[in-house]
Amino acid sequence: MKIDCHVHLVGTSEKHGSYVAPRLLRSVAFRYLTWRHGLAGIDDPLERERLYLVRLANLVEASELDRAVLLAFDGVYTATGQLDKPRTGLMIANDSVAHACRKHPNQFLMGASVNPTRADAIDELERVARLGAVLVKLLPNSHGFDPANKRFRPYFRKLAELNLPALIHCGYEHTLPVIDQALGDPDRLRPVLEAGTTVIVAHVGSAGLFHLRETFGRFLQLLNRYPNCYGDISALTNLWRAKYLKQLLNPNTLQRKYGIDLPDVMSRMVHGSDFPIPITPLAFVERTSWRQRRSLNCGRNPLQCDIDLKRLLGVPDHCLTRAHDELGLGRHLDNGN
Ligand SMILES: [Zn+2]
Repeated sequence: MKIDCHVHLVGTSEKHGSYVAPRLLRSVAFRYLTWRHGLAGIDDPLERERLYLVRLANLVEASELDRAVLLAFDGVYTATGQLDKPRTGLMIANDSVAHACRKHPNQFLMGASVNPTRADAIDELERVARLGAVLVKLLPNSHGFDPANKRFRPYFRKLAELNLPALIHCGYEHTLPVIDQALGDPDRLRPVLEAGTTVIVAHVGSAGLFHLRETFGRFLQLLNRYPNCYGDISALTNLWRAKYLKQLLNPNTLQRKYGIDLPDVMSRMVHGSDFPIPITPLAFVERTSWRQRRSLNCGRNPLQCDIDLKRLLGVPDHCLTRAHDELGLGRHLDNGN
């Protein structure tokens, strides 16, 4: 089964408990995305979300993917574990994603999000597992928690017990409101990995184009040390992160630049696109011909374009099936469902 493990629900409907702060709704990035997906003139948030999902489901269907993991995104919580709406920039509720997955069961898998600081975190993990979640997405920088804090050990042990990998964004966060960038340090994942939880580090822990501290090297050290650590190659076809894909595809660079010997690094990579983040084929101008870039047709189907471009660059096809074959995502569908 070919899976894209990192696709976003850009929802603005609050029907199932989601929330987008007005300041984010007014942001250039959000307005651009709404325009880019032909949703600019639609005022009803519920209808906008429905159309976005129909379009996304059609893109999955028209691609070689079998499923895409649609991601929830939990809010910020107070010291007593209650939702802190004023400090929450974006919340894509688990129920919004569960609802979308029920509507499009042949295209989407549920990627839940449960902030470990919420008072009912363990109960919520059990609930999303019952709803069919295949992983749990976390962004410590914006969720405001330290993965290394002992307090969260039971949470991460629970993830391992439920066979739910944690998809954790490390490095610098560029898009969403941040509480503390230091919480994205990959080294803070060591206790989580030692607890036996499978961790997929989003965007291979890279910092991106504009950042204060590079974190990619520390992600590579985790990969070297822990067999239950993986990286997702989402957003690496975007201009901001293209250099990391080039480095991954050249193990000599990893050795030279970061002093890490990982000749088979791609065998630990999981395919993801980070849709609707745009793809920049021109960022690979030295490795692709004009004719090849033209044939990609990113405008028609960005999900397939992301796969085609990566294939062109030498990303092996086993990255597409690893989420299913090695991490067990979507295995509950294997018996003909
Ligand atoms: Zn993302």
